[in-house]
Amino acid sequence: MRIRLGNGIEIEGKRRILMDPASTEEDSITLISHAHSDHVPRDVRNPRGFVFSSRATMEILSSFYGADKVNAMEFNSQYDFNGIKVTPLVAGHILGSTMYLIEHDGPRILYTGDINVEGGLTVEGPADLQEADILIIEATYGSPDYIFPDQDRVRMDLVKWAADSVKDGFIPMISAYTIGKSQEIIYLLNKLTNLPVVVSRGVARASRAYLNYFDLRYELDHDEPYVYVSSRWKDAERSVKAVATGWAIKRDFGDAKGFCLSSHSDFNGLLRAVMKVDPEMVITVYGQSKRFAEELRKMGIKAEALSSSFIKL
Ligand SMILES: [Zn+2]
Repeated sequence: MRIRLGNGIEIEGKRRILMDPASTEEDSITLISHAHSDHVPRDVRNPRGFVFSSRATMEILSSFYGADKVNAMEFNSQYDFNGIKVTPLVAGHILGSTMYLIEHDGPRILYTGDINVEGGLTVEGPADLQEADILIIEATYGSPDYIFPDQDRVRMDLVKWAADSVKDGFIPMISAYTIGKSQEIIYLLNKLTNLPVVVSRGVARASRAYLNYFDLRYELDHDEPYVYVSSRWKDAERSVKAVATGWAIKRDFGDAKGFCLSSHSDFNGLLRAVMKVDPEMVITVYGQSKRFAEELRKMGIKAEALSSSFIKL
């Protein structure tokens, strides 16, 4: 079996398996880890070959992208593709996000997709990490520059900021990723305040799939006061702005307030994931993949960033 970064993450053995490819291929199996656009094949509405994802991811792909030809897999069930056995596991990043455990007559391989070892409010749980020989792990925040503050504390600060802003006569506008972060914020505001939540059409489209799993209350329009949640702010008189993202730990957003709320694990979380899986070798992908591999090697862990050259397993 061999692996490389090409059309997504390519694993070749008795079958060709593509994980989060840019486009699907005839005669291959495509596994989608989650519904963020950088992990979804561009031809997902009319795919070639067989395409699989978790059931919740399939539902988001349908409600948000209009993709109805993706096959659903159940978490913790094993699927056999010509002797290559694939088990989807909860990844904790956004609803439906999946890690794939791949077993064949060689080393056990775990691909994380995007993960969160702490989970969040609108996911199935924290990343369900299991032992594997080869760990292919995301490295979005794979540098010691990215160590996040306590996330529950950030959640409380965000809600307090929104409530105080309304009390002062402003409309709080929170910019957050359309899929995942927006729903977490809607959930949080619903649970802790009586403030109406107004969202963009995009957030409403993504949120529809969440309603099968979580009670979310939001509207496309409402009289003031309300809190606005969307990837972009909209024009309104007397508004105050905020951004909810892990990047807020390093970035300044001008007159908008940054809240370091992340769907990803931070550097320490990624390290915890590596320790838990306890692999013989770590292969890093996405974001700070080179830096994270370097940090792991400093700790005596065999690690390299995945490139377009095949690694033989
Ligand atoms: Zn993601």
